[in-house]
Amino acid sequence: NPTDEALLRTRGLTKRFGEFTAVDGVDLAIDRNEFRSIIGPNGAGKTTLFNLISGAMRPTEGSIHLAGTDITDFTPAERVGANLARSFQLTTVFNGLSVRENVRLAAQSARFDEMSAVKRLFSDPENLEGINRRTDTVVDQLGLSDVAEIQASDLSYGERRRLEVGLVLATDPEVVLLDEPTAGMGSDETAATMDLIEDVLAEKTVVLVEHNVDLVMRVSDRITTLNGGQVVATGTPEEVASDDRVQEAYLGG
Ligand code: ADP
Repeated sequence: NPTDEALLRTRGLTKRFGEFTAVDGVDLAIDRNEFRSIIGPNGAGKTTLFNLISGAMRPTEGSIHLAGTDITDFTPAERVGANLARSFQLTTVFNGLSVRENVRLAAQSARFDEMSAVKRLFSDPENLEGINRRTDTVVDQLGLSDVAEIQASDLSYGERRRLEVGLVLATDPEVVLLDEPTAGMGSDETAATMDLIEDVLAEKTVVLVEHNVDLVMRVSDRITTLNGGQVVATGTPEEVASDDRVQEAYLGG
């Protein structure tokens, strides 16, 4: 469909928990290479929306299309195969493995989630070389070269969060989903991490879920404000800054 140029599109996306509607008819149209942030006060439905897009939860109603393909019924692994990757939780980092080994594992798990495929992978030197190259690139991009051989358990908190971004990047997805990537960081570390995200994901389509409005202002192309599970407004940072509806959502509307 030539008029439908959005890379990632949700239509009427809805999630109910019993009688309660956490995400309520959300339509998103995110362009290729766009940096889209989803903001909103606590309870707005951000995490639920994130889980619907990543595939961790199934919608009650509505659909999700990625590059024209209906992925509504895809598992999270199938979505990764379709080039959509979410940030991993802290627990996905393997403590006993080095930084490099963690990135490598993510790089190889991206395309190969069945044993038969893993066998194919290890019997084909070209695949291995590609994965080694991808691993080196990501370790370098994330500024983790100095700690590449260190066990993940010995990383600082900030390095560990950076490694998480690296694990997403290692899968080389077209669309990256990030859920409050700077949660728990101090202000210096937060600024550095946002700079890093902006830098390493410049070529990607990004969907960032974030409570803090100020944090997304500098890096976003467009910002969608949620409240009560519904889209309040979508606009550029400038438009959001001067939108009374966005202020109201945060002031407890
Ligand atoms: P946000 O991330 O914006 O803070 P959430 O998506 O976590 O919002 O939650 C939106 C609403 O849905 C909240 O009122 C929350 O209590 C409710 N909710 C979230 N998950 C569940 C669940 N598994 N069961 C029942 N209610 C839920």
